[in-house]
Amino acid sequence: CGIVGVIGRDDATQVLLNGLEKLEYRGYDSAGVYVNDQNGHDYLVKRVGRIKNLEAALTPEIQGSIGIGHTRWATNGAPTEANAHPHVSNDGRFYLVHNGVVTNAQTLRQEYLTDVELHSSTDTEVVVQLIALFAQQDGLDAKAALRKTLKLVEGSYAFSLVDRNQPDALYVAKNKSPLLIGKGDGFNVVASDALAMLDVTNQFIEVKDEEIVTLTKTDITIENLAGTQIQRNAFTVKMDA
Ligand code: GLU
Repeated sequence: CGIVGVIGRDDATQVLLNGLEKLEYRGYDSAGVYVNDQNGHDYLVKRVGRIKNLEAALTPEIQGSIGIGHTRWATNGAPTEANAHPHVSNDGRFYLVHNGVVTNAQTLRQEYLTDVELHSSTDTEVVVQLIALFAQQDGLDAKAALRKTLKLVEGSYAFSLVDRNQPDALYVAKNKSPLLIGKGDGFNVVASDALAMLDVTNQFIEVKDEEIVTLTKTDITIENLAGTQIQRNAFTVKMDA
């Protein structure tokens, strides 16, 4: 299973697809992408089975400059299209991919989401609905809603989040699941491992547990859950043939 994300590339769909293919070795049962052209058009496509099934569904108009992608290894819920990622909040605002297992999803659902209809049986959907709930009820922006949600979530995660209302940033966070930032020239990427993005960059930045990273096409901002900024340099990954 794996996650990928990109911001600041006109060929976002292709970058995501290439990245997902490189992550195939990790194993998966379904795959999906969300892309947004930052100009009012966006697309969510998910398929059960091989990445080539997803690729076949990605018709030429499915283009974007920001996007997230996922290969799923089902832990909560059967390998179906409804359970495949990205998951979207009921208001259509937030798109989330997740690797790992949120162990208190049922508790969170009972505590906060009794009035919210869920469309999958995943732990991940609980998280994206919570982000939307906090954004709406507390008037929070995406990062603040994500931070509030992360403080409640238990278990393992690598998350990548897009706010459809402000698609000029990509938010990522991790706890016990792998995740790396890739630094480009006028774009930035995220992936479960460097291999997935070596075609576009060899500069990577580590993400530590319980950090939130905000990527724009030019900037990478790392913060802990208390909101304190953290400076961290990129390292070079050498490609050995
Ligand atoms: N727990 C999530 C699910 O079952 C993510 C699984 C994964 O790591 O792919 O959908």
